[in-house]
Amino acid sequence: MVQQLHIFFFPFLAHGHMLPSLDMAKVFISRGIKATMITTHYHVPMFEKAIERSKELGFDISVRAIKFPSSDSGLPEGIESFDQLKSDDLLPTFILATTKLQEQLEQLLEECRPHCIVADMFFPWATEAAAKFDIPRLVFGGTSTFAMSAMESLRRNRPYDHVSSDSEPFVVPEIPHEIKMTRGEISVFERQRDEQDTDLTRLFNRVRESDVNCYGVVVNSFYELEKDYIEYYTKKLGRKAWHIGPFLLCNKEVEDKVSRGKKLAIDEHDCLQLLDSKKPNSVVYVCFGSMSNFTVAQLHEIAKGLEASGQDFIWVVRNCVDEEDSEKWFPEGFEERIQGKGLIIKGWAPQLLILEHEAVGTFVTHCGWNSTLEGVCSGVPLVTWPLFAEQFLNDKLLVDVLKIGVAVGAKEWSRVAKNIIKGEALANAVERVMVGEEAVKIRERSKALKEAAKKAIEEGGSSYSDFNALIQELSEYHSKRN
Ligand code: UDP
Repeated sequence: MVQQLHIFFFPFLAHGHMLPSLDMAKVFISRGIKATMITTHYHVPMFEKAIERSKELGFDISVRAIKFPSSDSGLPEGIESFDQLKSDDLLPTFILATTKLQEQLEQLLEECRPHCIVADMFFPWATEAAAKFDIPRLVFGGTSTFAMSAMESLRRNRPYDHVSSDSEPFVVPEIPHEIKMTRGEISVFERQRDEQDTDLTRLFNRVRESDVNCYGVVVNSFYELEKDYIEYYTKKLGRKAWHIGPFLLCNKEVEDKVSRGKKLAIDEHDCLQLLDSKKPNSVVYVCFGSMSNFTVAQLHEIAKGLEASGQDFIWVVRNCVDEEDSEKWFPEGFEERIQGKGLIIKGWAPQLLILEHEAVGTFVTHCGWNSTLEGVCSGVPLVTWPLFAEQFLNDKLLVDVLKIGVAVGAKEWSRVAKNIIKGEALANAVERVMVGEEAVKIRERSKALKEAAKKAIEEGGSSYSDFNALIQELSEYHSKRN
């Protein structure tokens, strides 16, 4: 038997990928496994604090830095993170630049000879790198099994080719539920995949193949959350996958939950004090992840919607695509009128702490998978407002399958949507999840999932057991080779 397994964790260079990877590594070290985070120099500080804390607790975790290929990447100097990109034009350049990390990864693999590498789905070349040293490569997709299953169906069947407009609905074929989507909700890259042959489309095709070519997939999810899709993905699609989340539940102390790698724009105590003064389930928390960007017209509508809902709220706003002056992000007199009722956080918020406070009654979310899981683990009903990536698929899981969310009605896949969602739509959705009989039912389902998440990671729970199965398999893999 292998004495102690050593695993490399190599997340994509974006906050929404690094956070769950770090949490995943913490889950592994808490079960006696040695972990090394691989990242570029710019990102090391994000991991340092968590690593320091884990070491204090006697866990075996470290970070190794590699150099981002800035000079020959075609990116502006200093850009080393996906979240730093202001315009979408540079997204392909950034993703392609990361392929140049392969050689440095191979050097580290050769030097350290870990027993396994868990590398991000956007690094399909990591499979080839690991194979050179006979190291199993696991893919970390960072999303739901529902999204992975639906995406596979969309790829195979291209149902959006048979509709006459971006708004005509079609059913996603083959998957366990009848899920309706529109072409406008599908990523442009996905739609154009077969029409173009570029470095990027080729890389994306490799990304798509990597959950088949690799040793298996680790998923930040749990059986009880999406059992139909876990069965579908593993049995019907025949993918090898371990569902061992939600990773965020490894953060037990306030200290671990506070900033999540970024400097907070508000003192967490002030934020919690404010929530302490509110009634249970009375506050609307609004946050669209680490990469969203709205127009000033859209920000004004969100402001109107929150005011019209009549509820107390916390709204996180970091940037605006067409207006730098933050004074102009809100309607005339808005900030004065909402004194005592609404708090605006202009910057990074302590999201985990806010969500788990009993005063929070709903979470208006862009359906990024981390935010989605954080909402689920807090037992908070959701108002769904997907923007891009696979967020429209997570939205369907929340609204149509789990029925713990109400959609605001976003229909345009874009980092900066042109179609403005009216404040009225936001106010209506907030009312549906906060007031009346429907709201009570949604809240009951949300609370049940919160409990199921907790149980999944406890000894004997579904994620705990799947984790054991993964470790056993990796140990056997290496024992046989020794
Ligand atoms: N987050 C946070 N404070 C903020 C905004 C985001 O702590 O002000 C965290 C959030 O809790 C989540 C992550 O950033 O863990 C965002 O990941 P997600 O997958 O939801 O969205 P993405 O940023 O990748 O679009």
